[in-house]
Amino acid sequence: MPGNFSFIAGQKVMVAGGAGFLGSHLVDKLLQADCQVTALDNLQTGSLSNLSHLNSHPNFIFSTHDIIEPFDSQFDLIFNLACPASPPHYQSDPIRTMKTSVIGTLNLLELAKRNHATMVHASTSEIYGDPLQHPQKEDYWGNVNPLGPRACYDEGKRAAETLCSDFRRMGQTDVKVARIFNTYGPRMDAKDGRVVSNFIVQCLQNAPLTVYGDGKQTRSFCYVDDLIEGLVLLAQTPLSEGGPINLGNPNEFNILELVEVVRRLTGSSSEAVFEALPQDDPRQRRPDIAKAKQVLGWTPQTTIEDGIAKTIRYFRQVLSQGEP
Ligand code: UDP
Repeated sequence: MPGNFSFIAGQKVMVAGGAGFLGSHLVDKLLQADCQVTALDNLQTGSLSNLSHLNSHPNFIFSTHDIIEPFDSQFDLIFNLACPASPPHYQSDPIRTMKTSVIGTLNLLELAKRNHATMVHASTSEIYGDPLQHPQKEDYWGNVNPLGPRACYDEGKRAAETLCSDFRRMGQTDVKVARIFNTYGPRMDAKDGRVVSNFIVQCLQNAPLTVYGDGKQTRSFCYVDDLIEGLVLLAQTPLSEGGPINLGNPNEFNILELVEVVRRLTGSSSEAVFEALPQDDPRQRRPDIAKAKQVLGWTPQTTIEDGIAKTIRYFRQVLSQGEP
């Protein structure tokens, strides 16, 4: 059931990371809610093609900007979605990833403070690391290797949460933190390396499906429209404390089960091939969303079949245009 977003209508909203997968969907949702939207993106992993349908939209501005550098303008609401989120991308320049999470978030928090704006910060299930508690509740502190190849992202996002919490605790900023679990849907980058996009593209190209490890590790996949709904609800819901709040779909699948879903829905007969499990790859992940249900009245609505089918339609179109 789509939420009522009249509360934020007319607001000046910034979406950092607005050309990315989640950011561009959020921009669409905010424009539908009659906000005036500025998208910032350094285009490291985001793409202008995700926003090209908005080129002449009267309430939309795009600015090429890296949040590692300060930015000044007037906003009522700031969303921080700026950071590469796929392991191959965030690991390709780990120091920059850490700077984006820590310095970039600090810059946006200071902007929010100057503007007396609300800030919604996109954190991640990665802050739980390879979790020893299952499913993961917000009060779990996590199990993160601070020195491994994922650390630039996990620890960067943990430090960003600390900054958000301290800005809020010091009474300076209305900042809210969403911990986003694995999300999929149209506008994922076909070359992103995420499991859903890899499997769909591999099936559509009759290529082998690359399963890392034994495929028994689990993830819980949320369709993008559901996730964006949760983010906007979080923005407009007054909170006595800033979160964090888990946003994700609690339906948990192992990777071999995902192989079967994607093969069935594409009609592909591609076979799985087993490759090495990346270092520190979490064995299991499932959000406890009791807090999101209670505080936001939010639960994901899209079944894996519907969501994957929509994502397959998107990738069929991308591939028919000769990409990737
Ligand atoms: N994975 C896989 N094959 C792929 C890409 C990923 O088996 O082609 C696995 C990966 O090792 C992990 C899970 O799928 O266990 C989810 O990976 P993804 O990169 O999508 O998300 P994250 O690891 O950040 O949760």
